[in-house]
Amino acid sequence: MSERLDVLRLGYRRGRDPRITTHLALVARAMGADGFLLAGDEDKEMFDNLNSVSDRFGGHLETEHVSGMGHLKHHVANGGVAVHLTMYGEPFRKAIPKIRRDRPVLIVVGGAKVPGDVFKICQHNVAVGNQPHSEVAALALFMDAWFGESGSERNFDDARLIIEGTNDGKLVHDLREED
Ligand code: SAM
Repeated sequence: MSERLDVLRLGYRRGRDPRITTHLALVARAMGADGFLLAGDEDKEMFDNLNSVSDRFGGHLETEHVSGMGHLKHHVANGGVAVHLTMYGEPFRKAIPKIRRDRPVLIVVGGAKVPGDVFKICQHNVAVGNQPHSEVAALALFMDAWFGESGSERNFDDARLIIEGTNDGKLVHDLREED
């Protein structure tokens, strides 16, 4: 049984970031995170949307609004591992083998402005290439490397809808209809 993994999104602005932040949470869920933690504005509607995806496609992504820096400090003070995704960090393929897997892991992604303390509090500052791009891309590539194939090929035991990947057309099994 592996330790839990959560994704913390700092500096969320409800008026500007809902789409990209929803995508971030969907990547977190699809690739195997246990929880998605939002710091900044509260957004119950986004959490409802995420819960509705889990209702249909399975899994139990926990969603919680937290105080960003407070949560991060508490996590590290309690022995957790914090991994900050940043273009200034160490290349992710080099960093991953050095990250402990026997502790709960918190992956921190920034918003418009990342407080300097984040770099000091997190034990790992990790880059997915040293160019500025997107938190969604950075999270997906990091989690794919962290979990290997079991990340992007994940299915959930309690899914109602299961998609069978095909080259031509949609193949969706609705397990409720098949009962
Ligand atoms: N200007 C912001 C700052 O002060 O760092 C960064 C904004 S960037 C659009 C939002 C987030 O995407 C960053 O905080 C980081 O988590 C992630 N990100 C962007 N490029 C990255 C990269 N090359 N490697 C890892 N993470 C990256």
